[in-house]
Amino acid sequence: MKLKFLGAAKTVTGSNFFLTGVNTGLMVDFGMFQGKPEEVGLNTIKPDIDFGALSAVLLTHAHLDHCGRLPLLAQYGFKGPIFMTEATKALAELVLYDAAKIAKEAEAKSVLYTDEDVEVILKQVSLVEYDKRFDVGDFTVTFLDAGHILGSASIIVEERTTGKSVAFSGDLGNTPEPLLSPTEFVTKANMAVVESTYGDEVHGPREEMEDLAKIINKAETNKGTVLIPSFSIERAQELLFIFDQLKKDGRMDVKTPVFLDSPMAIRATMIFKDFPILYSKKLKDQVKTDDPFDFSGLMICDTMEKSKQIKNYDGVKVIVAGSGMMSGGRVIHHAVNYLGESNTQLVMVGYQAEGTLGREILDGNRRINIWGNWITINAEVLEIKTMSAHADQGQVLLWLKKIDGLEEVALIHGEELPRLVLSEKIHQDLPDVKVVLPVVNQEIDLKL
Ligand SMILES: [Zn+2]
Repeated sequence: MKLKFLGAAKTVTGSNFFLTGVNTGLMVDFGMFQGKPEEVGLNTIKPDIDFGALSAVLLTHAHLDHCGRLPLLAQYGFKGPIFMTEATKALAELVLYDAAKIAKEAEAKSVLYTDEDVEVILKQVSLVEYDKRFDVGDFTVTFLDAGHILGSASIIVEERTTGKSVAFSGDLGNTPEPLLSPTEFVTKANMAVVESTYGDEVHGPREEMEDLAKIINKAETNKGTVLIPSFSIERAQELLFIFDQLKKDGRMDVKTPVFLDSPMAIRATMIFKDFPILYSKKLKDQVKTDDPFDFSGLMICDTMEKSKQIKNYDGVKVIVAGSGMMSGGRVIHHAVNYLGESNTQLVMVGYQAEGTLGREILDGNRRINIWGNWITINAEVLEIKTMSAHADQGQVLLWLKKIDGLEEVALIHGEELPRLVLSEKIHQDLPDVKVVLPVVNQEIDLKL
């Protein structure tokens, strides 16, 4: 087997791998490069692989950095199946049409793809269930629940002639977490291609409920605004779940308004409600008597008009708006309106990639430029790290240690420092396992 790293190698975004057997090849993920301009530029370059040998595409989950370039396959003439779970399909449909729409609205010179390309590619989707083995080309494939977002998967690919296997972690969840089933471990594989987003961090105990209660109580006292840039998928639902809980427990004023100002998060929440089968055990019990994503004071801003009216609400308010890394979306309007105010609390609840406005602010920059205007940030900038949807160092190590027969590990989906730190840790804890730190377009021979 040969494995080519076409993205998320020394970077986080652009997840894309190509595994070849004797006659056929499989692609795992075809994600968008995001963040730094030099990386974004890679989106327009056709991957250097033999498309003729490509028998199928396997998608780990619906985040843009994993599925965002799938519609380009229509342009590249690929007509084979694209395997994913049902929930991933529902979410990917939302994500891809949104990406096509953003490109069109931005009138970008290099629009990657259109609605028509998305439509073509969605027809090629073949649904898979967790834990059910199936054959494609030279391989047998199994999807496992990665516990990262709704429908997310780790994927084991086994070469039938040799019995050798490669496990792709996909993004691993910060397991156990309140909404989803725990991450399912891979029990046997010769090689693991594993994410290293937080390879240098230990998340600490989950205290987001307490942290958010404190933040909101402070805003309730000083009549301030809590602005939360949020990813539409998973994070927004987690936030709604927490506010529902806090209001039920009397730890947050039932009258404090929460604006969900993201059309995509609104639709993702609807999709979330369609898949109770994938919920954690606790959430499955809760939905029997209560809607965990709805509560009094929740304002759904499904139109631009409703979004604009938010600034007419004086006094305490919570605004949850996209995009999660402040790289666009409605949160930008709120940033302009509220970051200058000292009684605003800007709360980062997710990963902020290098090159994004969110990262710039988190790194301490207090003079930012939005649409050509300079804004001085007087708001308090806070970060809740435990809400990460990604495994930390300990969780990744545990995931690796559960794999029997592991000979080699490739660290992907991480910036340079986290993956170096994780690599060091693997050397210590699993001294017999070889660690590879691939770069984009590197191909390795799997001598397993
Ligand atoms: Zn992800």
